[in-house]
Amino acid sequence: MPIWNIGYRYGSGVNMDFILHELKMLKNMGLMRECRIIEGTQGPHVHIQGKPYISFCSNNYLGLANHAKIKQAAVEAIHRYGWGTGASRLISGNMMLHEELEKKIAEFKGTEAAILFPTGYMANLGALCTLVARGDIVIGDKLNHASIIDGCRQSGATFRIYPHKNMSQLESLLRKSSTFRRRLIVTDSVFSMDGDIAPLPDIVNLAKKYDAMLMVDDAHATGVFGQQGKGMIEYYSLEGKIDIIMGSLSKAVGSIGGFIAGSKCLIEFLRNKARSFMYTTALPPAVCAASLAGLTLIQENTSLIDTLWKNITGVRSQLAQFSNTIRVESPIIPIIIGSAEDALSLSLRLYKNGILIPAIRPPTVPPGTSRLRISLMATHTEEDIHTLTDTLRTCGFLTDKNPNDRGS
Ligand SMILES: *Cc1c(COP(=O)(O)O)cnc(C)c1O
Repeated sequence: MPIWNIGYRYGSGVNMDFILHELKMLKNMGLMRECRIIEGTQGPHVHIQGKPYISFCSNNYLGLANHAKIKQAAVEAIHRYGWGTGASRLISGNMMLHEELEKKIAEFKGTEAAILFPTGYMANLGALCTLVARGDIVIGDKLNHASIIDGCRQSGATFRIYPHKNMSQLESLLRKSSTFRRRLIVTDSVFSMDGDIAPLPDIVNLAKKYDAMLMVDDAHATGVFGQQGKGMIEYYSLEGKIDIIMGSLSKAVGSIGGFIAGSKCLIEFLRNKARSFMYTTALPPAVCAASLAGLTLIQENTSLIDTLWKNITGVRSQLAQFSNTIRVESPIIPIIIGSAEDALSLSLRLYKNGILIPAIRPPTVPPGTSRLRISLMATHTEEDIHTLTDTLRTCGFLTDKNPNDRGS
């Protein structure tokens, strides 16, 4: 029975009717969210309620989440170091694998040092709240990730937003910011719901010109962009030019965790001041072992990244056969639908045809831009990709080009 027919049954229920009321409103607006249960392992092919689906909605870009070497590294670490850590890093939770992983991240990103957080969300929160406070200004792109926005808000600094990738607006905000004690620019490198890329070289120049710190969230670029998968800094050859590099181990690396990479000074500062580092229990050592194995796999085997990009260009050329304009700049490919209801109903039609792509709705994206967000993996086969475009076509989303337009 749906919850709204049951009503409040637990506790006194007094003054808690608003919860039921708000849930009903979400349902009516097509904004109710549910967690589907993946029954086996993560990968391009998953099972839900016993049925097979092709998944196009995971950030497991290189297919490492279920890689034999990562599983083996985690199992060996459990045997050697146990599972739990029992305290925060600063009390007694710090173990050899945490230190080893931080060294490896710094080496991978080409920085002096790095600090590990339990998640990327906590890395953003911890860094932003430590670097700026009341009296400072933080300036961010309109489409920055929710964890950046939360960090900006919680920091207590003045928080200003420029329209997506709009450099003249960023400059105009910077020009007006000279009275603040400190200035910080923060941006995603690959935008998580749009899959497009920030103009980092321009942002680097503006940061320099206006004496602002620059923080880049490389969550979706790590293991995806740059010949060696080091991320957008490698792609744009900006080594040494970004003050604060944030990344996640939960996406292409196939594990879990977040980090900040940068100068030794910055990392020491965060170790002493970032509350989401100080007041939470250290990650299990086996998780660090899995991350270490993931980074090593990326370093030793660039063919993983090549295969991912082969799939990305494959989808791009298939989509070009249709009249819809869909931008493909990364493994994240948004299909903008508009209303939440329409996005939901297309998602459901795909689901009935064996394809898993949930609808992304407000507040994750602005109202009126609800979408299906396709994400590709290196482990998708050519056949998977054909099935995707064929199904989008039979579900009425992709329309054939007018034959007279072909090749024009
Ligand atoms: C996923 C994501 C995060 C958060 O990383 P987690 O490790 O999942 O907590 C931060 N920023 C961006 C842009 C992301 O896409």
